[in-house]
Amino acid sequence: MTQKRQKIIIEGIVQGVGFRPFIHQLAMRYHMVGSVRNDSRGVTVEVQGEESAVDEFVNSIHTDKPPLAVIDAIDIIPIPLRDEVSFAILQSSRSQLRRAQIPPDTCVCDDCLRELFDPTDRRYLYPFINCTNCGPRYSIVTGIPYDRPLTTMRTFSLCAACRDEYQNPESRRFHAQPNACPDCGPHLQLVNAKGKVVDALDPITEAIHRLDQGQIVAVKGLGGYHLAVDPKNQKAVEELRYRKKRDEKPFALMAKDIETVNRFAVAGDDEIRLMQSAERPIVLVRKRNDHELAENIAPGNRFFGILLPYTPLHYLLLAGKFSALVMTSANLSDDPIAYQDAEALIRLGAIADVFLNHDREIYMRTDDSIARIVAQRPVLLRRSRGFVPRSIGLPESCQEALAVGGELKNTICLTRGGRAFLSQHIGDLKNLEVYDSFKKTISHLMSILEITPKLVAHDLHPDYYSSRFASEQAELEKVGVQHHHAHFASCLAENGGGSAIGVIFDGAGYGLDNKIWGGEFLVGDYQEFQRHGHIQYQPMPGGDLATKEPWRMALSYLMSLYGESIEDLRIFPNISDLEWQLVSQAIQKKINSPLTSSCGRLFDAVAAILGLREKVSFEGQAAMELEMIADPGQSLVYPVHITPQNGQLIIDVKPLIESVLKDHLNGIGAAVISGRFHASLANIVEEVCSDLRRKNGLNRVVLSGGVFQNCLLTEMSKSRLESSGFKVLTHSQVPPNDGGLALGQAVVAISKGHS
Ligand code: ZN
Ligand code: ZN
Ligand code: FE
Repeated sequence: MTQKRQKIIIEGIVQGVGFRPFIHQLAMRYHMVGSVRNDSRGVTVEVQGEESAVDEFVNSIHTDKPPLAVIDAIDIIPIPLRDEVSFAILQSSRSQLRRAQIPPDTCVCDDCLRELFDPTDRRYLYPFINCTNCGPRYSIVTGIPYDRPLTTMRTFSLCAACRDEYQNPESRRFHAQPNACPDCGPHLQLVNAKGKVVDALDPITEAIHRLDQGQIVAVKGLGGYHLAVDPKNQKAVEELRYRKKRDEKPFALMAKDIETVNRFAVAGDDEIRLMQSAERPIVLVRKRNDHELAENIAPGNRFFGILLPYTPLHYLLLAGKFSALVMTSANLSDDPIAYQDAEALIRLGAIADVFLNHDREIYMRTDDSIARIVAQRPVLLRRSRGFVPRSIGLPESCQEALAVGGELKNTICLTRGGRAFLSQHIGDLKNLEVYDSFKKTISHLMSILEITPKLVAHDLHPDYYSSRFASEQAELEKVGVQHHHAHFASCLAENGGGSAIGVIFDGAGYGLDNKIWGGEFLVGDYQEFQRHGHIQYQPMPGGDLATKEPWRMALSYLMSLYGESIEDLRIFPNISDLEWQLVSQAIQKKINSPLTSSCGRLFDAVAAILGLREKVSFEGQAAMELEMIADPGQSLVYPVHITPQNGQLIIDVKPLIESVLKDHLNGIGAAVISGRFHASLANIVEEVCSDLRRKNGLNRVVLSGGVFQNCLLTEMSKSRLESSGFKVLTHSQVPPNDGGLALGQAVVAISKGHS
């Protein structure tokens, strides 16, 4: 039999995830000799054996890899045979390990769960059980190489039994950096709002007891604190809302298992798979009509945001009296989520009655991720815990760059060697604490990824805090990237690049003409774009205030149609005469009424006319409610005027607004009107794209921007485009909203840097 020897270099997340023992087992299975070692690129294997067995060995690396491993690339180099008798796991020097990628925080695995509930196991009911395949990672890493002394586990020294596991390649805790047990690891404590320890036999039992009494319990988790209450206790939920100053924004629910989920929501197979994935995002799932939970968990919303437990502590909390709990991120309205003990007591002292704390420090604040199923595919609305710092492959190798993202839903992005590393969700940078978190995240990621950017990409909006930060980076080359070009490029980057038509619908972004864009048809690629069409500009009375008060945008459209006579209709019953006067004058006299082509504002206008919302308590609320009430079966479309002007197609939606108003006044239900409105937009998308295809010969269409979080609009647009023969590109790895901007900024800046 012919023998061969190969060197196999594997890159990706392959260290600290049980890769070397896995390779060792494979070598035994295929009777190989050789070695495996960690090094600066990842893992390097040398194998020697019978020719076909070597090939099978390589195949099995892909098919059987450990659950946390992510393989970015495999290089195979034939090398000369050597005289060897065994297969060895080699030690590597620390300096060789520096570039290893750190895995994301991962939900507790089945093996650990079995031990958790096994009375004979030494970790029975131990809330910090973990192994090579599961547990905290990104949130506890303080530096590289990824090794226990550079995690927040450094303060706990391993007991003899844990050390044995850690050092034994046969153990499922081989090199599990957060390995711990009741003898040597972190412990729980229940403290009151003053930080005083609550006298109780068992902190979990006592916490459950408090929840049962209707109290609010702050629970320290993987990436920050949650606030927990009994989801059947309307008063407790109301109290939480009041103390959190969160009037209407939905609270997430954590459910013990899918069986429990099915009791209050209607989850499809795709949604179940998404909830059960190792990343454990919050998934939007349609409520059941007969759910028995408090109505005020997600008021006015047809969906619950549901997630399954992901830490051993969550499983223990849900093992007794409660099979579901409200688990909302612990913060006061727009503040970032609390993650440090002392800080949590100060910030949450007036919200939580008791704190279920522990002494394993969280180093990096990481919010829960949020996802929903759109057109049968998972779409991330917030990419954070479970996904970060996993990288996204770019089509080609690239220089090291930093992209600082937008202003709301901020994330940042770093690139090197053909990969883009997107940060966790950071939040609204106008909040000072969020801005501090933004700066900490940038320096932390630069350090653990060893990236020294040469250029910084930023939005063109001069007042975004992220743009200002970029302008302060004296030593870096600055590349401004137009907001919608960045949305467009982020979606292209997920789909292999190239050129395409871009349909970019969102709330607001700074345009090249200093106006507020948001209903855009672009044509271009990473390097450049042209604006080929947009929703006709409309005054936005009050500027940013219009996003909080959708009726302003409605009035703006209606006054363009009917002038002051619209007042006779009295269509906004909750708006005072004074407010009406002020806003209508602002529109007429063009005072503080910037022009916008925003599609998000068009949704606001329609929602306000239908009486859904005159004012909202969070961004995008009216648009979301308009989607939720829509009857998806409507095919009638409202008229619009699309006319060419200076080489662009201008979409005048006033005839559509007029029809919406007429239908509404004729007593046609909001569900039907909303359905027609969605169908009309999908129709516009298809019509304009067909026109652009005739002119530019492009057949690929990108759908991006925050409006495409809307499942119905995305599905309708996609199916209309596909039936006209288009190839439709959508998001799957980064959010269509501003949470994905940084990736687009990065790829645009890199490609401009090359030219
Ligand atoms: Zn495990
Ligand atoms: Zn131990
Ligand atoms: Fe945007």
